[in-house]
Amino acid sequence: MATYKRILLKLSGESLMGDQAYGIDQTRLSDYAEQIKEATALGVQIGIVIGGGNIFRGLSGAANGFDRVKGDQMGMLATVINSLALNSALNALGVKSRVLTAIRMEPIGEFYSKDKAIESLEKGEVVILSAGTGNPYFTTDTGSSLRGIEINADAMLKGTRVDGVYTADPEKDPAATKFDRISFDDIYNKGLKVMDLTATTMCKENDLPIVVFNMDQKGNLLKVLSGENIGTVVHA
Ligand code: UDP
Repeated sequence: MATYKRILLKLSGESLMGDQAYGIDQTRLSDYAEQIKEATALGVQIGIVIGGGNIFRGLSGAANGFDRVKGDQMGMLATVINSLALNSALNALGVKSRVLTAIRMEPIGEFYSKDKAIESLEKGEVVILSAGTGNPYFTTDTGSSLRGIEINADAMLKGTRVDGVYTADPEKDPAATKFDRISFDDIYNKGLKVMDLTATTMCKENDLPIVVFNMDQKGNLLKVLSGENIGTVVHA
């Protein structure tokens, strides 16, 4: 029995690189697809937002002289590329999935609407919500908060390469310890970073709990959905 009926799974584009310096690592992609397949077997409805940092980020582009809005549009297109890759990997495993886009680009994907997304979820399809919010100056973290709230997800599962929220960056500070649970207020008060502030605030204001966990370890998505607290739950 799964803990959640409907989730919004946020995957980072950067993780999709695996050990490569750029692009999509085929092994990591199929690991993700297999974990998602296991999750669908539990009967959980799954919406997915995937980032684009393995291909392009508007902010880094702007640092190199790109116009920020153009750079962000390139970043949003990068999320569509990743979404199509995941769509294809899921379909190859026999998992029905569908890509919706926040910017019109048929026939690459259908233009997003809340109703379309929910209709697919209720049919048991995995819905990949691509192109972020469709607007520059946002991130896919904000896109996943927005979509998670719109589709009435029970939680946002943020699959990253670290296994939760720590007192300090565990990749820099070996003394950092992990929280099993932490409130939104403590996130602000302690100056911790789970997602960008816009995304975190949207979740807080709309009662969408966040579960941060390590998606790069096979089987972890299933563990989270089965109620095992292997990451950090951010709650109201
Ligand atoms: N982006 C945007 N608006 C959105 C979502 C994303 O402009 O609503 C752009 C932005 O440039 C961002 C890039 O798309 O840097 C890729 O997304 P993100 O950095 O969130 O990817 P991740 O860090 O998860 O790989």
